[in-house]
Amino acid sequence: MIDARKFYLNGQWVEPVSRKEFPILSPVSEDQIGVTILGNEEDVDKAVAAATEAFKSFCLTPKDERLDLLERLLKITKNRFDDLAWAMTKEMGAPISMSRDSQADSGIGHLEGFIDSLREMVERETLSNGDILVREPIGVCGLITPWNWPINQIALKVIPVLATGCTCVLKPSEHTPLSAKIYAEIIDEVGYPPGVFNLIQGDGPTVGAALSAHKDIQMMSFTGSTRAGTDVSRRAADTVKRVTLELGGKSPNIVFSDCNLEKRVTESVKECFLNSGQSCDAPTRLLVERSCYIEVLEIVKRAALSQKVANPMEEGDHIGPLFDKIQFDRVQNMIKVGIDEGAELLVGGTGRPLGFEKGWFVKPTVFSNVTNDMRVAHEEIFGPVLVIIPFEDEDEAINIANDTPYGLAAYLQTDDMNRAERVSSKLRAGAVHINGGGFNYGSPFGGFKQSGNGREGGKMGLEDFQEVKTLHFG
Ligand code: NAD
Repeated sequence: MIDARKFYLNGQWVEPVSRKEFPILSPVSEDQIGVTILGNEEDVDKAVAAATEAFKSFCLTPKDERLDLLERLLKITKNRFDDLAWAMTKEMGAPISMSRDSQADSGIGHLEGFIDSLREMVERETLSNGDILVREPIGVCGLITPWNWPINQIALKVIPVLATGCTCVLKPSEHTPLSAKIYAEIIDEVGYPPGVFNLIQGDGPTVGAALSAHKDIQMMSFTGSTRAGTDVSRRAADTVKRVTLELGGKSPNIVFSDCNLEKRVTESVKECFLNSGQSCDAPTRLLVERSCYIEVLEIVKRAALSQKVANPMEEGDHIGPLFDKIQFDRVQNMIKVGIDEGAELLVGGTGRPLGFEKGWFVKPTVFSNVTNDMRVAHEEIFGPVLVIIPFEDEDEAINIANDTPYGLAAYLQTDDMNRAERVSSKLRAGAVHINGGGFNYGSPFGGFKQSGNGREGGKMGLEDFQEVKTLHFG
């Protein structure tokens, strides 16, 4: 049984005040594989006090020293790479190959991006009017992360804290405490001063809410659902703390008939199903030009039927289960909603795939002839479910793409680069991926509209954790 009951406070592994145990469940066997503790307000107060004390000196750490510590963090993260990948496979079911190549890899990639950005960052400069501008760490930060990309999200928040000279209290998802525990062990081994980084396990309504409202926290950085993100903002309002939010998405993927249909559509289906569809920026709405609609349906069908589902401990490019029963029930319900709304079921459906009697495995599912007013077209499903919506021309494609409260990412498949530029400029999303172009570490990541505010990663991801001060000499 994996034991994740201790919290990391003030440079020590300590017994929490709360004694409320919470099981860690295997998404494959549904059995309990470990245990953690859901913290309470007293645990939060202790962690914030440690971070507040540590900030007094850590905020003055020169950039060279912060860079040395980050280089050491890089070395130790690489040493613990396999442990991180293994933990995520165990706790949330990411297939082990993908857990290494993408999930754990993000802990290294983002760190390298932040190191480059910090090296280039000018923290003190003279303005043309003679005043001095200084960038300083904002203070004690509360960090709340989700279960779907556990280390990716921890890296995007904890590293800028350490890089800029802030201090923090991290509350990972209660469903993925293992990878967070290993990350805390890594930070401990680096040798950061006590209190710079603190880890509390716990749920949203107790620990998340206490952090959001805490008077000694100057910034909340949150990733998760739009529902919880608005709650964090509301609670943070009384203390006027800065809040950055990375929230949900329902990203459009526009397929024009002039692209290499076989290649682009096949890869689009795979991308939608990656991580069992549990990615905030997954291309879940496939908008297809009417002139190639029938051909695209055939390609999608082939690609979706060839999507393997298997045990996440096996190597390979299959998908694994959803992370938990909550998510399994949500996805099953949304597939049923799609059927009831009259969307055409092209592949998959409700129930587990053949050969699975337990575990949170779902059938890769595709709906065609969907209209954008259906719930399956505008609600985030967060499972391997793709909806296909036909369009007549470029203007209609842009209208459908933007007809969503979200704006995290958009995808575009066309061989006409003038069209790619023109359409990209009209899409209301934080990232546009053209012909399979992937995210590069060091670039900013974040959304328009209800997908959030602020940007994570690279230079902009550091700036979000800084205050700006001006010095005026007489
Ligand atoms: P969730 O909102 O239920 O939980 C996310 C985190 O918030 C968890 O740590 C949870 O304990 C905490 N939380 C829950 N309620 C809270 C509250 N009222 N106050 C403070 N904290 C609270 O989301 P989830 O189900 O864990 O994650 C899936 C969601 O995250 C999806 O909507 C997905 O799109 C989004 N997501 C967004 C990004 C991004 O960068 N935009 C990345 C990953 C996931």
